[in-house]
Amino acid sequence: MAKIILTGDRPTGKLHVGHYVGSLRRRVELQNSGEYDEIYIMIADAQALTDNADNPEKVRQNIIEVALDYLSCGLDPAKSTLFIQSQIPQLTELTFYYMNLVTVARLQRNPTVKSEIQLRDFHNSIPVGFFTYPISQAADITAFDATTVPVGEDQEPMLEQAKEIVRRFNYIYGDTLVEPQILLPENKYCLRLPGTDGKAKMSKSLNNCIYLSDSSEEVRKKIMGMFTDPNHLRVEDPGQVEGNPVFIYLEAFSTDEHFRQFLPEYENLQALKDHYSRGGLGDVKVKKFLYAVMEDVLTPIRQRRKEYEKDIPAVLEILRQGSIKAEAKAAATLNRVKQSMRINYFDDQDYLDEQAKKFAEN
Ligand code: ATP
Ligand code: MG
Repeated sequence: MAKIILTGDRPTGKLHVGHYVGSLRRRVELQNSGEYDEIYIMIADAQALTDNADNPEKVRQNIIEVALDYLSCGLDPAKSTLFIQSQIPQLTELTFYYMNLVTVARLQRNPTVKSEIQLRDFHNSIPVGFFTYPISQAADITAFDATTVPVGEDQEPMLEQAKEIVRRFNYIYGDTLVEPQILLPENKYCLRLPGTDGKAKMSKSLNNCIYLSDSSEEVRKKIMGMFTDPNHLRVEDPGQVEGNPVFIYLEAFSTDEHFRQFLPEYENLQALKDHYSRGGLGDVKVKKFLYAVMEDVLTPIRQRRKEYEKDIPAVLEILRQGSIKAEAKAAATLNRVKQSMRINYFDDQDYLDEQAKKFAEN
């Protein structure tokens, strides 16, 4: 069976370093491994509209931002198909058929949707489109016959839902859809990177992000202002590393090489953590090191972004070509789906003959 990747992001803002460690970095590695037959990367504008219906301009403006973030991280249009969700009408059609295979109660149990509803203060005014977006996500995944979906931990319930839809579809209509597997980051600190404010998740909606496109100065300010251990008041006090976002970022980004380069008095992260826990190590020193690490990661990304920004029409053309290619793939899947459901009337000569005959006999 072909190995196929599908994943994507909502164009509700620029991408941040949580996206990078949660999914983007992995995508680029998988792309360059040469082990995958097809790779689809989707800018999920239709999904972004499910909770931004009153602000389509935000979504519209962020398409190019997300595309620039993709390209600057090293996604290569020669190897990965970059496309825009709303340009693939087959995804909406698949969603409509899959809706019949899912109950309202099942959707209500989805923990990610539950917490997102709370976060957005929807109360009883939940848009139906938002409530059902896990179904549309199942359509996105299955339309491309994706075997592998590299995403952050918050997407686990979506993948479970997609698998259930696949099983139910195949059970009712015969083997048609491919069951996808989630691919989570191996480093547990990357599953859900916290915000600079110490909140559980760095998220565009929470305003606690370091963006891939932030300037060096912005990154410095954000890191120096980061939440750490609130009880670590004096340098000599013992500090807590667990749950301390500065150390979590170091777990997610730093390498032993970074220590050799920027902080040679410590052999590795463990040595730095030990000193912090013992006491005698100030937050400022740790933050300065984190800043050096982040700059090492972000500088090449920023440089590539500058290059792509010089030719925006070329970036838009990449999305146009990618969308054409993605539509062809989704159309083939939709044909297969309609054939399995036996609603492909005009392509089904037996059906046409049978209906004609039925009435001719009367
Ligand atoms: P929004 O607030 O609009 O939902 P978001 O920041 O959650 O935005 P998404 O576009 O919903 O971003 O998520 C895109 C991908 O990035 C998903 O695979 C998600 O799991 C991953 N991701 C998002 N935030 C983080 C994070 N803080 N840590 C790890 N992965 C993340
Ligand atoms: Mg999200």
